[in-house]
Amino acid sequence: MEQRSAKLRERLGRSQGSLGQVFRKVFSGSQLDDAAWQDLEDTLIMADLGVTAASDIVQNLKNAVRKSGANSPQELMEIASQELTRLVDGGFDRSLNITRTNSNPAIVLTVGVNGTGKTTTTGKLARLLSAQDKDVLLGAADTFRAAAAEQLMTWGERVGVPVIRGAEGSDSASVAFESVAAGIELEVDVVLIDTAGRLHTKQGLMDELGKVYRVASKSAPISEVLLVIDATTGQNGLAQAKVFSEVVPVTGVVLSKLDGTAKGGIVIAIQQALGVPVKLVGLGEGPDDLAVFNPADFVTGLLN
Ligand code: GDP
Ligand code: GDP
Ligand code: MG
Repeated sequence: MEQRSAKLRERLGRSQGSLGQVFRKVFSGSQLDDAAWQDLEDTLIMADLGVTAASDIVQNLKNAVRKSGANSPQELMEIASQELTRLVDGGFDRSLNITRTNSNPAIVLTVGVNGTGKTTTTGKLARLLSAQDKDVLLGAADTFRAAAAEQLMTWGERVGVPVIRGAEGSDSASVAFESVAAGIELEVDVVLIDTAGRLHTKQGLMDELGKVYRVASKSAPISEVLLVIDATTGQNGLAQAKVFSEVVPVTGVVLSKLDGTAKGGIVIAIQQALGVPVKLVGLGEGPDDLAVFNPADFVTGLLN
């Protein structure tokens, strides 16, 4: 098994879009036997779909193929694409909850492990919302490093929105609170609060995040808690998602750095485990490299 895993990993690692290559290779083979199906299942696992989703997909594929009598590689690829799209889609509502309610702005909290892309996502989202004529305010609640607030200030300048920050080392929750207060005062549409990264395995830091959430929600309800997950981290993303959603009510996942991997199958695993959709994807470091998650496009990329 280990040997086969290594072989598959190598095969997958060889090129972008190799999931599609494996599918095509198996489908164009002389017969779709147990070994071929097993190969597909292993390939899906390697693409980070998780064991359960991978085995579900293969089972559904088998049934669909049997029922339709499809056997040309093109027909089989079409069925695979439909099956994957159905699973990735999951019937989720992926719209961002960013409407002002009563006299309150919508409040969006960005959370996640260090380096996943929270600050970048916050900046890019500010750009996206500004382009929709929304008044946006940024809150730099990552007070742990001075550079973190600077980074968000730079984004604020770049996309032309104001930033609330605290003194270095000040309480993260208090900056979150001040940002919400300023957003109410200035009557903006959306307040985007960037938080410090933290390892999901550090209980103290996770408790701190719970406090940031509670304090931020004192003056206005939190509309969205976006968990940013690096698409290149693989199955650890699932562990991160589980722990973060125990501490704060995660309403959506942002899958960042999708430009850097042909995998991203973690989408299915996370959505199934959390019951929360991937709402946005990061496709690069630039201000316009944030997109609404589209299941059909995603699967096309995966099977490329
Ligand atoms: P944070 O620690 O979670 O706030 O992460 P940052 O926003 O500082 O991002 C960490 C690094 O990842 C930076 O170099 C970003 O430019 C980069 N990054 C963030 N999102 C993306 C993305 O979607 N694609 C790529 N290629 N790089 C990204
Ligand atoms: P230790 O290695 O277990 O002693 O952990 P530390 O307390 O040194 O922290 C490890 C990492 O956690 C640091 O590099 C910081 O990024 C982060 N960290 C530590 N304290 C805080 C805190 O109060 N708030 C936040 N947001 N991050 C912290
Ligand atoms: Mg950051």
